[in-house]
Amino acid sequence: MNDTKIEWCDMTWNPVTGCLHGCEYCYAKKVAHRFDGKVFDTSPLPGGLHVLEDRPPWPPYPYGFAPTFHRYRLGDPASKTKGKTIFVCSMADLFGSWVPTKWIVDVLDACLAAPQHRYLFLTKNPKRYLELNEVALLPHQDNFWYGSTATNPETDLMAWSDSFHTFVSIEPMLGPFGVPSPSFNHNIGWYIIGAETGNRKGKVVPKKEWVQEVVDYCREAGKPVFMKDSLLPIMGEAGMVREFPWNMKKGGAWSDHLRNRFERVE
Ligand code: SF4
Repeated sequence: MNDTKIEWCDMTWNPVTGCLHGCEYCYAKKVAHRFDGKVFDTSPLPGGLHVLEDRPPWPPYPYGFAPTFHRYRLGDPASKTKGKTIFVCSMADLFGSWVPTKWIVDVLDACLAAPQHRYLFLTKNPKRYLELNEVALLPHQDNFWYGSTATNPETDLMAWSDSFHTFVSIEPMLGPFGVPSPSFNHNIGWYIIGAETGNRKGKVVPKKEWVQEVVDYCREAGKPVFMKDSLLPIMGEAGMVREFPWNMKKGGAWSDHLRNRFERVE
Protein backbone atom coordinates (compact mmCIF):
# COMPACT_ATOMS: atom_id res chain seq x y z
CA MET A 1 0.00 0.00 0.00
CA ASN A 2 1.20 3.50 -0.76
CA ASP A 3 0.50 7.03 0.38
CA THR A 4 -1.04 8.97 -2.45
CA LYS A 5 -1.63 12.44 -3.82
CA ILE A 6 -5.21 11.48 -4.71
CA GLU A 7 -7.13 13.94 -2.57
CA TRP A 8 -10.13 11.79 -1.62
CA CYS A 9 -8.28 8.88 -0.01
CA ASP A 10 -5.33 8.26 2.30
CA MET A 11 -3.69 5.39 0.47
CA THR A 12 -3.85 3.32 -2.69
CA TRP A 13 -3.55 -0.46 -2.72
CA ASN A 14 -3.04 -2.37 -5.95
CA PRO A 15 -3.38 -6.15 -5.57
CA VAL A 16 -4.50 -6.12 -9.22
CA THR A 17 -2.94 -3.85 -11.85
CA GLY A 18 -3.60 -3.33 -15.54
CA CYS A 19 -6.71 -2.49 -17.49
CA LEU A 20 -8.12 -3.22 -20.94
CA HIS A 21 -10.58 -0.35 -21.29
CA GLY A 22 -8.08 1.57 -23.40
CA CYS A 23 -9.10 5.10 -22.42
CA GLU A 24 -7.04 7.56 -24.42
CA TYR A 25 -6.53 9.80 -21.37
CA CYS A 26 -5.27 6.96 -19.12
CA TYR A 27 -2.64 8.14 -16.65
CA ALA A 28 -2.19 4.75 -14.95
CA LYS A 29 -1.05 3.15 -18.20
CA LYS A 30 1.71 5.72 -18.60
CA VAL A 31 2.89 5.06 -15.04
CA ALA A 32 2.85 1.29 -15.53
CA HIS A 33 4.89 1.52 -18.70
CA ARG A 34 7.36 3.81 -17.01
CA PHE A 35 8.10 1.00 -14.56
CA ASP A 36 7.64 -2.11 -16.70
CA GLY A 37 10.43 -4.39 -17.79
CA LYS A 38 9.28 -7.90 -18.63
CA VAL A 39 11.82 -9.35 -16.23
CA PHE A 40 9.69 -12.43 -15.65
CA ASP A 41 9.63 -14.78 -18.57
CA THR A 42 6.37 -16.55 -17.78
CA SER A 43 3.55 -17.26 -20.19
CA PRO A 44 0.35 -15.36 -19.54
CA LEU A 45 -2.85 -17.13 -18.63
CA PRO A 46 -5.63 -17.17 -21.23
CA GLY A 47 -6.80 -13.63 -21.90
CA GLY A 48 -3.30 -12.22 -21.41
CA LEU A 49 -3.64 -12.34 -17.61
CA HIS A 50 -0.66 -12.66 -15.28
CA VAL A 51 -0.26 -13.79 -11.68
CA LEU A 52 2.67 -12.84 -9.47
CA GLU A 53 2.89 -14.99 -6.36
CA ASP A 54 6.00 -13.30 -4.96
CA ARG A 55 7.02 -9.68 -4.68
CA PRO A 56 9.20 -8.85 -7.69
CA PRO A 57 12.55 -7.21 -6.86
CA TRP A 58 11.98 -4.61 -9.57
CA PRO A 59 10.19 -3.25 -11.57
CA PRO A 60 6.72 -3.07 -9.97
CA TYR A 61 4.89 -3.63 -13.28
CA PRO A 62 6.85 -6.37 -15.04
CA TYR A 63 3.96 -6.95 -17.45
CA GLY A 64 3.31 -3.29 -18.11
CA PHE A 65 -0.42 -2.60 -18.14
CA ALA A 66 -1.49 -6.19 -18.82
CA PRO A 67 -3.94 -7.37 -16.10
CA THR A 68 -1.80 -8.78 -13.30
CA PHE A 69 -2.74 -10.25 -9.94
CA HIS A 70 -0.11 -9.39 -7.32
CA ARG A 71 -1.14 -12.09 -4.89
CA TYR A 72 1.70 -11.22 -2.49
CA ARG A 73 -0.05 -7.90 -1.75
CA LEU A 74 -3.21 -9.44 -0.30
CA GLY A 75 -1.98 -9.19 3.29
CA ASP A 76 -1.14 -5.47 3.07
CA PRO A 77 -4.38 -4.04 4.58
CA ALA A 78 -4.26 -6.42 7.54
CA SER A 79 -0.66 -5.37 8.23
CA LYS A 80 -1.77 -1.75 8.86
CA THR A 81 -3.56 -1.44 12.17
CA LYS A 82 -4.48 2.25 11.94
CA GLY A 83 -7.65 2.73 9.89
CA LYS A 84 -7.19 4.40 6.51
CA THR A 85 -9.39 5.29 3.56
CA ILE A 86 -8.01 3.11 0.80
CA PHE A 87 -8.61 3.40 -2.94
CA VAL A 88 -8.49 -0.23 -4.07
CA CYS A 89 -6.84 -0.77 -7.44
CA SER A 90 -6.08 2.76 -8.58
CA MET A 91 -3.90 1.13 -11.28
CA ALA A 92 -6.58 -1.19 -12.66
CA ASP A 93 -10.26 -1.77 -13.14
CA LEU A 94 -10.79 -4.55 -10.60
CA PHE A 95 -14.31 -5.08 -11.89
CA GLY A 96 -13.43 -5.13 -15.59
CA SER A 97 -15.12 -7.93 -17.52
CA TRP A 98 -11.76 -9.68 -18.08
CA VAL A 99 -10.90 -9.98 -14.36
CA PRO A 100 -11.44 -13.53 -13.01
CA THR A 101 -14.07 -13.65 -10.30
CA LYS A 102 -11.58 -15.47 -8.07
CA TRP A 103 -9.22 -12.47 -8.16
CA ILE A 104 -12.04 -10.14 -7.13
CA VAL A 105 -13.20 -12.46 -4.36
CA ASP A 106 -9.66 -12.78 -3.01
CA VAL A 107 -9.29 -8.98 -2.93
CA LEU A 108 -12.69 -8.50 -1.25
CA ASP A 109 -11.81 -11.19 1.29
CA ALA A 110 -8.57 -9.36 2.10
CA CYS A 111 -10.63 -6.22 2.72
CA LEU A 112 -13.06 -8.12 4.94
CA ALA A 113 -10.10 -9.44 6.91
CA ALA A 114 -8.99 -5.87 7.71
CA PRO A 115 -12.19 -4.06 8.79
CA GLN A 116 -10.29 -1.17 10.37
CA HIS A 117 -10.09 0.50 6.93
CA ARG A 118 -12.60 2.12 4.61
CA TYR A 119 -12.39 0.74 1.04
CA LEU A 120 -13.28 2.66 -2.09
CA PHE A 121 -13.71 0.71 -5.31
CA LEU A 122 -14.11 2.33 -8.70
CA THR A 123 -15.03 0.83 -12.05
CA LYS A 124 -16.11 1.65 -15.56
CA ASN A 125 -18.02 -1.65 -15.60
CA PRO A 126 -20.50 -1.34 -12.72
CA LYS A 127 -22.72 -4.09 -14.01
CA ARG A 128 -20.05 -6.43 -12.60
CA TYR A 129 -21.11 -5.20 -9.14
CA LEU A 130 -24.64 -6.26 -9.94
CA GLU A 131 -23.54 -9.63 -11.30
CA LEU A 132 -21.49 -10.33 -8.17
CA ASN A 133 -24.29 -9.19 -5.93
CA GLU A 134 -26.72 -11.53 -7.64
CA VAL A 135 -24.54 -14.51 -6.70
CA ALA A 136 -23.97 -13.18 -3.17
CA LEU A 137 -20.30 -12.28 -3.76
CA LEU A 138 -20.50 -8.51 -3.21
CA PRO A 139 -20.02 -7.70 0.48
CA HIS A 140 -22.64 -5.44 2.07
CA GLN A 141 -20.21 -3.78 4.47
CA ASP A 142 -20.59 -0.34 5.93
CA ASN A 143 -16.91 0.41 5.19
CA PHE A 144 -17.15 -0.55 1.48
CA TRP A 145 -17.93 2.14 -1.09
CA TYR A 146 -18.73 1.07 -4.64
CA GLY A 147 -17.94 3.75 -7.20
CA SER A 148 -18.67 4.15 -10.89
CA THR A 149 -16.70 6.37 -13.25
CA ALA A 150 -18.87 8.57 -15.43
CA THR A 151 -17.22 10.70 -18.09
CA ASN A 152 -20.47 11.49 -19.88
CA PRO A 153 -24.13 11.51 -18.87
CA GLU A 154 -24.92 8.20 -20.57
CA THR A 155 -22.47 6.11 -18.55
CA ASP A 156 -23.93 3.17 -16.63
CA LEU A 157 -23.44 3.42 -12.90
CA MET A 158 -24.46 1.85 -9.63
CA ALA A 159 -26.62 3.65 -7.12
CA TRP A 160 -26.68 2.83 -3.45
CA SER A 161 -29.34 0.77 -1.77
CA ASP A 162 -30.15 0.21 1.87
CA SER A 163 -27.18 -2.13 1.99
CA PHE A 164 -24.58 -0.41 -0.23
CA HIS A 165 -22.73 2.86 -0.28
CA THR A 166 -22.16 4.09 -3.82
CA PHE A 167 -20.50 7.08 -5.42
CA VAL A 168 -19.80 8.50 -8.84
CA SER A 169 -16.48 9.85 -10.03
CA ILE A 170 -16.92 12.30 -12.88
CA GLU A 171 -13.29 12.31 -13.94
CA PRO A 172 -12.22 13.36 -16.37
CA MET A 173 -15.25 15.51 -17.06
CA LEU A 174 -15.50 15.46 -20.83
CA GLY A 175 -18.64 17.51 -21.35
CA PRO A 176 -21.74 18.93 -19.71
CA PHE A 177 -23.98 16.42 -17.97
CA GLY A 178 -27.20 18.39 -18.15
CA VAL A 179 -29.95 18.22 -15.57
CA PRO A 180 -31.90 16.03 -15.40
CA SER A 181 -29.33 13.42 -16.39
CA PRO A 182 -29.30 9.66 -15.79
CA SER A 183 -26.09 10.23 -13.85
CA PHE A 184 -27.87 12.28 -11.22
CA ASN A 185 -29.64 9.74 -9.09
CA HIS A 186 -31.06 10.16 -5.62
CA ASN A 187 -29.56 6.81 -4.58
CA ILE A 188 -25.98 7.89 -5.20
CA GLY A 189 -24.23 9.02 -2.06
CA TRP A 190 -21.29 11.07 -3.24
CA TYR A 191 -20.04 12.87 -6.33
CA ILE A 192 -16.38 13.44 -7.16
CA ILE A 193 -15.49 15.79 -10.03
CA GLY A 194 -12.13 16.19 -11.71
CA ALA A 195 -10.59 17.51 -14.90
CA GLU A 196 -8.23 15.69 -17.22
CA THR A 197 -4.59 16.27 -16.35
CA GLY A 198 -1.52 16.10 -18.56
CA ASN A 199 -1.01 17.56 -22.01
CA ARG A 200 -2.77 15.10 -24.28
CA LYS A 201 -3.66 16.41 -27.70
CA GLY A 202 -7.41 16.85 -27.63
CA LYS A 203 -7.51 17.21 -23.86
CA VAL A 204 -10.88 18.48 -22.65
CA VAL A 205 -10.91 21.35 -20.17
CA PRO A 206 -14.29 21.46 -18.39
CA LYS A 207 -16.20 24.70 -18.38
CA LYS A 208 -17.02 26.25 -15.02
CA GLU A 209 -20.75 25.96 -15.71
CA TRP A 210 -20.45 22.18 -16.32
CA VAL A 211 -18.95 21.78 -12.87
CA GLN A 212 -21.35 24.19 -11.24
CA GLU A 213 -24.32 22.28 -12.63
CA VAL A 214 -23.22 19.13 -10.76
CA VAL A 215 -22.59 21.13 -7.60
CA ASP A 216 -26.01 22.77 -7.85
CA TYR A 217 -27.63 19.35 -8.22
CA CYS A 218 -25.75 18.04 -5.17
CA ARG A 219 -26.72 21.11 -3.15
CA GLU A 220 -30.38 20.70 -4.03
CA ALA A 221 -30.32 16.95 -3.38
CA GLY A 222 -28.36 17.28 -0.13
CA LYS A 223 -25.39 15.27 -1.38
CA PRO A 224 -21.71 15.77 -0.65
CA VAL A 225 -19.49 16.70 -3.55
CA PHE A 226 -15.72 16.69 -3.84
CA MET A 227 -13.72 18.68 -6.36
CA LYS A 228 -10.25 17.47 -7.20
CA ASP A 229 -7.37 19.93 -7.30
CA SER A 230 -7.40 19.70 -11.10
CA LEU A 231 -10.46 21.99 -10.93
CA LEU A 232 -8.64 24.75 -9.05
CA PRO A 233 -7.67 26.72 -12.19
CA ILE A 234 -11.30 26.54 -13.34
CA MET A 235 -13.20 27.15 -10.10
CA GLY A 236 -10.70 29.21 -8.11
CA GLU A 237 -10.04 28.44 -4.44
CA ALA A 238 -13.25 30.20 -3.36
CA GLY A 239 -15.30 27.98 -5.65
CA MET A 240 -13.78 24.69 -4.50
CA VAL A 241 -15.92 22.25 -2.53
CA ARG A 242 -14.36 19.26 -0.74
CA GLU A 243 -16.94 17.20 1.13
CA PHE A 244 -16.86 13.60 2.33
CA PRO A 245 -19.97 11.50 2.89
CA TRP A 246 -18.82 9.20 5.64
CA ASN A 247 -21.45 10.37 8.08
CA MET A 248 -24.36 10.31 5.69
CA LYS A 249 -27.15 7.85 6.34
CA LYS A 250 -27.72 5.02 3.92
CA GLY A 251 -31.06 4.72 2.23
CA GLY A 252 -32.90 4.06 -1.00
CA ALA A 253 -32.79 0.98 -3.13
CA TRP A 254 -31.70 -0.18 -6.54
CA SER A 255 -33.63 2.23 -8.69
CA ASP A 256 -35.87 0.90 -11.45
CA HIS A 257 -34.10 3.30 -13.74
CA LEU A 258 -30.68 1.75 -13.07
CA ARG A 259 -31.99 -1.78 -13.15
CA ASN A 260 -33.45 -1.02 -16.57
CA ARG A 261 -30.16 0.37 -17.73
CA PHE A 262 -28.29 -2.70 -16.56
CA GLU A 263 -30.81 -4.93 -18.26
CA ARG A 264 -30.39 -2.93 -21.42
CA VAL A 265 -26.66 -3.57 -21.63
CA GLU A 266 -26.78 -7.24 -20.62
S1 SF4 B 1 -10.58 2.68 -16.92
FE1 SF4 B 1 -9.03 3.85 -15.82
S2 SF4 B 1 -7.28 2.46 -15.65
FE2 SF4 B 1 -8.61 1.66 -17.27
S3 SF4 B 1 -7.79 2.51 -19.20
FE3 SF4 B 1 -9.45 3.86 -18.46
S4 SF4 B 1 -8.42 5.45 -17.26
FE4 SF4 B 1 -6.96 3.73 -17.48
